[in-house]
Amino acid sequence: MGDETVKAQALQILGVFQVLPRLVVFDLDYTLWPFFCECRSKREMPSLYPHAKGILYALKDKGIDIAIASRSPTPDIAKTFIDKLSIKSVFIAQEIFSSWSHKTDHFQKIHSRTGVPFNSMLFFDDENRNIQAVTKMGVTSILVNDGVNLGALREGLTKFSENWNASEKNKQKWRTKFSKNPNTSGKDSQE
Ligand SMILES: [Mg+2]
Repeated sequence: MGDETVKAQALQILGVFQVLPRLVVFDLDYTLWPFFCECRSKREMPSLYPHAKGILYALKDKGIDIAIASRSPTPDIAKTFIDKLSIKSVFIAQEIFSSWSHKTDHFQKIHSRTGVPFNSMLFFDDENRNIQAVTKMGVTSILVNDGVNLGALREGLTKFSENWNASEKNKQKWRTKFSKNPNTSGKDSQE
């Protein structure tokens, strides 16, 4: 399937959902591309997973921001590859640095750089420990098995909607609870 076909299908999937994330964040190694870039040479020509480019272009078309969160110890190689793949311009933030945290500091940086709240973000990564840590921050996070693809995109958007609707319902519950007792704070005023 060519990039344009994947892009069209990704746009179709995106069109199904009423709520969409404001920012989608991708890991690099084994999420966007099928290798550890620290094991490669800058001189090589890298390739992405087959659906990756089409998905990136569809998100961009839809006006959804895109960022990278990678713990790669070789950010220079990663950045060279991003450049060679001609995808540099789709990312509004690239946080590529090794860290002892499971990407929580990457997400703090992305948040302060973009101002996007964690619950408006969707994240794809192939390592469960990152998924667990970032989920705890309030980001909808999806574990990918063999790189990002249309199936993972659909799964991510579905989960994002579910999380979003659940938190809206919760907000509504609180609003109703408080509006039932509007004078709670003034109950002693008649005495
Ligand atoms: Mg990875």
